Amino acid sequence: MWHRDQPFEIAGATRRAHLKVRGLSAGYGAFLVLRDVSFEVKPGLTVILGPNGAGKTTLLRALVGLIPRGGEVLLDGEELAEKTHEVVRDGIALVAEGRQLFPQMTVLENLELGAWLAPKAQRQQRVEQVLQDFPKLRERGSQLAGTMSGGEQQMVAVARAMMSAPRLLMLDEPSLGLAPRMVDELLAIARRIADAGTTVLMVEQNVKKALAVSDRGYVMERGMLVASGPAKLLARSTIVREAYLGAQASDTTTAARAVQRSV
Ligand code: ATP
Repeated sequence: MWHRDQPFEIAGATRRAHLKVRGLSAGYGAFLVLRDVSFEVKPGLTVILGPNGAGKTTLLRALVGLIPRGGEVLLDGEELAEKTHEVVRDGIALVAEGRQLFPQMTVLENLELGAWLAPKAQRQQRVEQVLQDFPKLRERGSQLAGTMSGGEQQMVAVARAMMSAPRLLMLDEPSLGLAPRMVDELLAIARRIADAGTTVLMVEQNVKKALAVSDRGYVMERGMLVASGPAKLLARSTIVREAYLGAQASDTTTAARAVQRSV
């Protein structure tokens, strides 16, 4: 775990965090969105799919302590903190939907804010490490974030999250509102981050493309996880093909139907 007085881990170091969630509940006041949700996020890239309002964002917000939660959340076997700043210190970073950059600040300034816990010298060293992974941002360092395209801003948001050298990176709909080419680029970045050893949990509505880059997936409906499995099998499953890819039930294979039965 990274603490204020310790140096950052070396960029690209293998962390391969494992998250286990048991009986998670969360909501807004008396409105319970998630009830008794259990799942795990293994090293690699895991995607959570589901329609609008299913509770995907609520799930991520509950995990990082932005809203109160019940249940057990273990990161590498240790109980995860409940306050957001402690969750960050425990090694989790969230790129929220809508990116939430500071538009009047430059790319470099936005990046530095991603390591606000670290002393300045370490922050600058970390910026240098992160820019090696995001070479396109290097030439944009002094550009105001608010003047960039949506895809470029999303890239800055992901790079900023990587500034804290997280063990687990959470991405809430990274492809939302982006042109197809940028969607491919952002999903490829998520894949690269997972391959470099940071576990990635991603919420996506872009079902086909997200499953193509992911290792495993879950489908959430009305606050419950209704299907899970290896991404390749989920892509061929009845539940995903009918509800999200517009296919007919008769198209599905035996292997694909097995995913749904195993839920
Ligand atoms: P989307 O893709 O549209 O963001 P989602 O699967 O992420 O969908 P959530 O945003 O988690 O869904 O919303 C789950 C439910 O919680 C919805 O019924 C939504 O209206 C409700 N909700 C979300 N945010 C709040 C809030 N701040 N206060 C009250 N209810 C909320």
